[in-house]
Amino acid sequence: MIDIRNPFMEDKEKKEKEPSETIMAAICTLNTHQFSDLIHSLSLEFRRHHHHLCSLLRSSTRFPLALHHLQTISLHQKALLIARYFLSTLTHLTRFFKTSSSFLKLNLSDLDAALLLMLLCEVHQQEPQALQGSPAEWHIGLNDYVMRSSLLTLAGLGESSSTVLTPYVDLTIKCRRFLDAAGCGDEMVREVAASVAAVVALPSVEINGCGVECVICREEMREDREMCELPCEHLFHWMCMLPWLKKRNTCPCCRFQLPTDDVFGEIQRLWGILVTKSGMES
Ligand SMILES: [Zn+2]
Ligand SMILES: [Zn+2]
Repeated sequence: MIDIRNPFMEDKEKKEKEPSETIMAAICTLNTHQFSDLIHSLSLEFRRHHHHLCSLLRSSTRFPLALHHLQTISLHQKALLIARYFLSTLTHLTRFFKTSSSFLKLNLSDLDAALLLMLLCEVHQQEPQALQGSPAEWHIGLNDYVMRSSLLTLAGLGESSSTVLTPYVDLTIKCRRFLDAAGCGDEMVREVAASVAAVVALPSVEINGCGVECVICREEMREDREMCELPCEHLFHWMCMLPWLKKRNTCPCCRFQLPTDDVFGEIQRLWGILVTKSGMES
């Protein structure tokens, strides 16, 4: 039975592929050079994170610090930490689709906390007995798990595309599930401001000819005034567009999304780009 409160649901279910299919279809749109570039950057990243995690688990100072940090931050802050990790994962692929993200990579202490948190979640699900004893002793069981885990050691086995793509697709599936769990899975509901950097970078253009209407105020644009142009090439009065972008990151005409400083909104935007790309492949 169709949920009458959400008329988009039936359409969405028909159109949106499984997360793994979306990612693979988006990857299939890359040319050979871009594909090997992606494999190389993912391989480097996975190895870096693997070494980072191993050294964290063996360190008598970093491990207790990261664990203490995780014990003191709120659930929301933990979700943000994981979201920023997933966001950095997605940008490995979306950077090929002419989009940039204003989010910086995690600093080393945040990366410690994010990798440890993800590992704790995984071990809690797979081998909860490894987390017996006091938290200070967890590093023994965690270290042992990482050594045995094929998922995390795959990155050390070489640079073939499948040994890198399999864990990458798994990560992006987790990212999509995380977005759904955080209540941001539906593109229609979340409204976030455009990022300040993206707004500052918008070009000012002069228009040629009359008769073009700004859809926000419904007034005609005059030739002697500079207009704001969005990347989708739609034009608006600056005075109309700036307040609009303080509340939403979408074009009022075509719903093109500008980058946002909201982590969940940004993951949602990048995911939307992948969904669009994956549709182009078929
Ligand atoms: Zn206007
Ligand atoms: Zn537009």
